Amino acid sequence: MKLRSRLALGGGALGALGAGILLTSFLPQKFATTDTDTTAPGSLPDRQGLPDIDVTFLRCGSVVVPEFLAVRGAFSSRPREISHSAVLIRHPNGTFLYDTGLCTDIELFLLDQSWFFSQTLGKFKMEQSLGNHLQQLNMRPNDLDFVLLSHLHWDHVAGIPDLPGVPLRINQLEFDAAHQGLLDQNNGLVRRLLSNNPFTLYNLGGSAYEGFRSSYDLFGDGSILLVPLPGHTPGQIGMIINRAHGARLFLVGDAAWLVDNYTLPATMHPFLWSRVTSDDATARQTLLKLHRFMELYPEVPLIAMHDAQMQAAFLHIEQERQKVHV
Ligand SMILES: [Zn+2]
Repeated sequence: MKLRSRLALGGGALGALGAGILLTSFLPQKFATTDTDTTAPGSLPDRQGLPDIDVTFLRCGSVVVPEFLAVRGAFSSRPREISHSAVLIRHPNGTFLYDTGLCTDIELFLLDQSWFFSQTLGKFKMEQSLGNHLQQLNMRPNDLDFVLLSHLHWDHVAGIPDLPGVPLRINQLEFDAAHQGLLDQNNGLVRRLLSNNPFTLYNLGGSAYEGFRSSYDLFGDGSILLVPLPGHTPGQIGMIINRAHGARLFLVGDAAWLVDNYTLPATMHPFLWSRVTSDDATARQTLLKLHRFMELYPEVPLIAMHDAQMQAAFLHIEQERQKVHV
């Protein structure tokens, strides 16, 4: 065989292989059906004795992505909305945020980022800064007792510059892992956004809870439980909210992007998934745990921090509930 035809054949084979890999990346991925971590789920807490807890999403920005990017195996380019939000939680013993949305000066913080970053993970439309949301609610930053961070990716700490002096609470595991490189990535973006706010570290040292291997009871009254959701980052935490009135609620950080990710279950497209996931197998195990939780408690909304549709639906139901309650 002549060299040229060999090369052509080789090139063709490589091309076919490349096309094959590309095609496979859009196909659904099989998940193991057995959960290797078999922590038994608990039982629904008794609502009596639980406090009233007010939960509000503060949406700061958004970006639209085609569905096949957000949900692996979805053969659809239907636009899906990814939001950047903070969650304002008012418990009788403390008012705090779960994640922080986007600060007023976020564009300035992102000025020195690469073109690639600004066209992919750093791409969003600014809507309303966290500072602005607080103003509208007649709140000053120091009305917040603390901020609890689901994990230390830039888009979850990006509201902190609007909260000078507000103490941060960070999972020790996440804090230690971030010092292995995350804090310095993207020209130290996360380190700069953390803004020298005071912080305290905690451990999820409590007993297993609802299928999760450990927990942390935030106020010691069984109403707000932090649980580990590792894989996206090593120390990501989710928050299960049990309250006297309104739906029980599970905030799942970035363990999923959209509701589809844990209902199917399916990761996002592997190109994105690999860029934002610290440990693939662990992250898929976590997704499977969310899937199990959803099957066990279909009435409990699991809300991801970028799932604009779920957040809007929750807010609507919450507003209707409050109208009836008043
Ligand atoms: Zn995120």
